[in-house]
Amino acid sequence: MTILVTGGAGYIGSHTCVELLNDGYDVVVVDNYYNSVPEVLNRVEKITGKTVKRYECDIRDREGLEKVFEENTIDAVIHFAGLKAVGESTKLPLLYYQNNVYGSVVLFEVMSKFDCKKIVFSSSATVYGNNPIPYKETMPTGDVSNPYGRTKHFIEQILGDLYRSDDQWSISLLRYFNPIGAHESGLIGEDPNGIPNNLMPYISRVAIGKLPQLTVFGGDYDTKDGTCIRDYIHVVDLAKAHLCAVAKILETTGIEAYNIGNGKGYSVLDIIHAFEKASGKKLNYVIGDRREGDLPAYYADAEKANTELNWHAEYDIDKICEDTWNFQTKNPDGIK
Ligand code: NAD
Ligand code: UDP
Repeated sequence: MTILVTGGAGYIGSHTCVELLNDGYDVVVVDNYYNSVPEVLNRVEKITGKTVKRYECDIRDREGLEKVFEENTIDAVIHFAGLKAVGESTKLPLLYYQNNVYGSVVLFEVMSKFDCKKIVFSSSATVYGNNPIPYKETMPTGDVSNPYGRTKHFIEQILGDLYRSDDQWSISLLRYFNPIGAHESGLIGEDPNGIPNNLMPYISRVAIGKLPQLTVFGGDYDTKDGTCIRDYIHVVDLAKAHLCAVAKILETTGIEAYNIGNGKGYSVLDIIHAFEKASGKKLNYVIGDRREGDLPAYYADAEKANTELNWHAEYDIDKICEDTWNFQTKNPDGIK
């Protein structure tokens, strides 16, 4: 079985390639390396001892994508390629609609042309907006506060329309909560360009001395310690959820959404303390203002993925922090 992984050199994509290869799948990666480097795929090969066929190609490049489908028999696609910075998306919304939405439409058109109708799509818990917690798949979606989140909502809707127009499609929408952590080899992990937007890479760069101080965005929320609550999930657990989803779409048709989270909420201070324990370092942080657009608290009800995909998160927050620190210390300057 051959799986096309768009965005396979990225953070979640690379960990998923490892799990796919370890499970015996052949993997073809399409990535334009906008937010990653080819070396990541060399490391995937090193971890697994297997080869990754790779194309430097933008998903908006129809001819390039058609070549990939002409040269390979693709059984299913896992679609990670996309831009993901919430703040940037509010400043450059058209770039986000062009890259994420248009790029996805081109991909789906090329898939249709080559009669490949099985796809796992990287969606996000952000599609739930302001629903009661824990989030369940049956809740309404789309009340989203930023263009990035809207691209995820729109792509989910497009895939829904596609299935309604042709019931041979088999589609899995994975709504990720907060992926963090790294492969335990320390060879691959989250390696954002520039100053990180997200909590975990920021914490680990403060711990290693690359950044002076972490600002906790808000200490006056109505939560147990005043800081925001999120559902943090180990990236390897998340990668394994893709294997379960692929197994499911290969044997069925339909469209289903699944929450991929731990089902537990941790505060920003919980994460800081777990990281201090894992790294043995005292973290320099201050409590600052709230960040615009942040919801106080959310976490997953992951029951549907547990029962229908037979997927369960394995790793706790201590292991997540240990693996992040291991990756950070082995790659103090990132992956080159
Ligand atoms: P990432 O930036 O590390 O990986 C995305 C990959 O896609 C990168 O390698 C990038 O170069 C590539 N890419 C981007 N646009 C492309 C294009 N037009 N053509 C070809 N390649 C392109 O991000 P990630 O954290 O691994 O996220 C993967 C997916 O999961 C994204 O769609 C993201 O929106 C979604 N997601 C991520 C999170 C998170 O917190 N990391 C949460 C929810 C959903
Ligand atoms: N956060 C923080 N300081 C930072 C980055 C993030 O306090 O420098 C908080 C943020 O307010 C949120 C949590 O950490 O409550 C997770 O934020 P992240 O950006 O990682 O993911 P999000 O929840 O926005 O998807």
